[in-house]
Amino acid sequence: MLDTPARTPEPPSTDPFALATALSGVHFIGGRFVPARSGRTFAVVNPATGIEVARAAEGDAADVDAAVQDAHRAQKAWAKMPARKRGALVYQCAALIRTHQDELARLIALETGKALRTESRVEAGVVADIFEFFGGLGGELKGESVPFAPDVLSVTVRQPLGVVGAIIPWNVPLLLMALKIAPALVAGNTVVVKSAEEAPLTVLRICELLGRILPPGCFNMLSGQGPECGAPLVAHPLVRKVTFTGSVETGKIVAKAAAEKLIPATLELGGKSPMIVFADCDFAKTVAGALTSMRFTRQGQSCTAASRIYVERPIFDAFVAEMKQAVDRMVMGDPLDEKTDIGTIISQGQFDKVQAFVAEGRATPGATAHECSAMPTDPALKKGLFMRPVIFTGLDATSRLVREEIFGPVTVIQPFDDPEAVLAEANDSEYGLAASLWTNNLKVGLDLAHRLEAGLVQINQNLVVQANLSYGGVKSSGLGKEASLEAMLEHFTQKKTIMVNMA
Ligand code: ADP
Repeated sequence: MLDTPARTPEPPSTDPFALATALSGVHFIGGRFVPARSGRTFAVVNPATGIEVARAAEGDAADVDAAVQDAHRAQKAWAKMPARKRGALVYQCAALIRTHQDELARLIALETGKALRTESRVEAGVVADIFEFFGGLGGELKGESVPFAPDVLSVTVRQPLGVVGAIIPWNVPLLLMALKIAPALVAGNTVVVKSAEEAPLTVLRICELLGRILPPGCFNMLSGQGPECGAPLVAHPLVRKVTFTGSVETGKIVAKAAAEKLIPATLELGGKSPMIVFADCDFAKTVAGALTSMRFTRQGQSCTAASRIYVERPIFDAFVAEMKQAVDRMVMGDPLDEKTDIGTIISQGQFDKVQAFVAEGRATPGATAHECSAMPTDPALKKGLFMRPVIFTGLDATSRLVREEIFGPVTVIQPFDDPEAVLAEANDSEYGLAASLWTNNLKVGLDLAHRLEAGLVQINQNLVVQANLSYGGVKSSGLGKEASLEAMLEHFTQKKTIMVNMA
């Protein structure tokens, strides 16, 4: 096997550019850095400047096979280890991640354009929390005893599935990887991760860090294009489970490929999450909540972004005005600058797609586009994929901006008069990931919460994924849950029944 020695620093690096260069051109297989077998690489670009910062190894079926074979070899010994010991090792990873929190955050900011203070550092912190949470759950891999007959001991045991293929997107790459690999490992599986084309570096770095604690081969990491590297991972005969986060379109392709092999697939897909604001809400808290809900600090690149906001008519105008002012106060700039609230869109392709939505909204009769904040003035950022957040009013349920996932800093605010009508509009969507309700009338709030078609409904808050709260959508937003004990048991283990006849 082609092998290159690790060139990355042992202590946390403060220079994300040097770290990006050091991580160039390799996968992580069997606890070591390994170039793609073809020798091919692709560019990793800093979206704030348009400048290439690294080359990522471009994996294909041969690399997939090497990684999966390695994970398969490692799985037997890993599964034999007592579950609490596996958990203890995963728990130890959390402390190492915390030591490297700032380093990881800078690298996320560099490759994704997400602001360091408002987004990237938060993501790295949540990742440590997730490793800590799942690390404590080794002892919870319990089965049941079944009252079959007095002289027959009948029990179920939970066993790992084998090698798990984990395919992740670019918007929160570390967090979404952690939600997959931490429970998969504690449950006794080994994992091959395929990173997103746009964000391979931080995932590679964290794999290297985990490799200082976990046995080689427990998790391997590949970078590459979806069809050339992701598809062979799903199709590989030794991969016994696939866990995927990404678009609905690709999710369907992955689900079909998994069905072909009769293996389970967990799918976390898109969203068009409604935020419903009643006139009796706590106004200031709700405006602040709208900024968080819409994930403006992540340039709206979140499947739970509140991209359609329904506001009860008496407070509609005041709400729009206040929200516009609040977004105006947000600073757009260099993602690595501590002063920055809002960074960049991830890629040119995504930028063009979001701009096309905005152009369509502007061209709609009766629509108003409120552009907020201000473009950065630093000449070094002039090629950056910065985009002023846009709040649309005057669009209705027929607009593509209200129906489709934009995945950019664009939200549509519409007035409503009747709770039943707004519920019907909120549910009139192919998606069902998340929703939030803002009211001091908890009777109304809880009633609607029960009837909203979404995997997660929050009243008077809209937080991101939290450890131990099951997360996952209904309808086209996905299949299966993540982030909780139940999710680990349901999606990363299989039950076996054992009967002992003692008669
Ligand atoms: P996005 O539109 O956000 O890039 P995708 O769903 O295309 O979302 O990508 C999410 C992840 O799925 C990425 O890691 C991508 O490389 C991978 N992917 C894309 N196509 C396929 C495929 N045919 N099979 C498996 N994985 C794929």
